[in-house]
Amino acid sequence: MKFNTKTIHGGQKYEEATGAVMPPIFQTSTYAQSSPGIHKGYEYSRGKNPTRTALENAFAAIENGTHGFAFASGLAAIDCVLRTLNLGDEVIAGDDLYGGTYRMFTRLFQKYGLKFQFVDMNNVENVTNAITSDTKLIWIETPTNPLMKIADIEEINKAVKAKDATILIAVDNTFATPYLQRPLDLGVDIVMHSATKYLGGHSDLVMGALMVKDEKLANDLHFIQFAAGAIAGPMDSFLALRGVKTLHIRMQRHCENGRAVAEYLVNHPKIGDVYYPGLENHPNHKIAKKQMDDFGGMVSFRLKDESKEATFKFLENTKIFTLAESLGGVESLVNHPVTMTHASIPESERLKIGITDSLIRLSVGIEDIDYLLADLEQALNK
Ligand SMILES: *Cc1c(COP(=O)(O)O)cnc(C)c1O
Repeated sequence: MKFNTKTIHGGQKYEEATGAVMPPIFQTSTYAQSSPGIHKGYEYSRGKNPTRTALENAFAAIENGTHGFAFASGLAAIDCVLRTLNLGDEVIAGDDLYGGTYRMFTRLFQKYGLKFQFVDMNNVENVTNAITSDTKLIWIETPTNPLMKIADIEEINKAVKAKDATILIAVDNTFATPYLQRPLDLGVDIVMHSATKYLGGHSDLVMGALMVKDEKLANDLHFIQFAAGAIAGPMDSFLALRGVKTLHIRMQRHCENGRAVAEYLVNHPKIGDVYYPGLENHPNHKIAKKQMDDFGGMVSFRLKDESKEATFKFLENTKIFTLAESLGGVESLVNHPVTMTHASIPESERLKIGITDSLIRLSVGIEDIDYLLADLEQALNK
């Protein structure tokens, strides 16, 4: 099935009893059994719920996986992956991760005896050189949040598996979505999403997703999802499924508007650095072009005047771009990583990679592009 059909029909079937085209919101915790242990596949909603099942089938389909899992948040999905590891195991992760991922690794799991190394994944050798006999998981985020760095998923996967085929490789595909890149097709083991962002797409829920294509790994993840319990509820599952059905058409517009905003910023006399993988002068543009079908709606930049005053003045004066955390909804948002999404990263770590006070991140929505550009222009003139 091609992608635009898969987002709507992938893993979906009308509901048996009534023919309802969308699955009802099965707002139930439990299911009647005719005799002990005799039931219709559903026992208790932490294990399985039909609305969540419909969504999880859609999740699997859009990433070309065989199994999908829906969690209470993106971080709950990451937590599930880390729980597959054992005492002393080591994770190699990118050095420009979503702040909450970094916080979970260093402040929750380190104390349970997991080890973490953070490397610049722009260079494949940085990853392979970091591998030790304890390495069990590679955590890739690409494009990264907020600096839009690109890691070559296929090359990292090949190089790591050549060194040790048992190491699991996971990709946080939140920024790209399967509309732009499909990591399971490139050989990795696990795809993770904050479905709060583009998959849900309407800023009305918090949810996480995992997708895999290996039966054994799927069983392990399902066990943890069931045993740890951080599941997505039926109402949120319904909303997320509704969102997935328009993913392709929203992403098409996000990409168009994202590119137009990036080009506008690059040519603006008041703007300094612009971070957008679709720009020819982006340091990883070639890799981005190879592994992504387009470049998405996330754009980061700095004003030429890098003072905190000028940056805050801009952030306070956009009107259509709402100053808020999060991204990937239909509406445009502007974010200040240092005080908002990335406040959980220690200052010394942030400065090392360039997340400074002057950095501004845009989630370009699907409004009329002339309105969006006019809004940036008026805020820049303040
Ligand atoms: C938001 C985000 C997360 C965390 O997801 P939540 O749904 O907020 O828990 C993880 N990775 C990336 C890239 C994100 O943007």
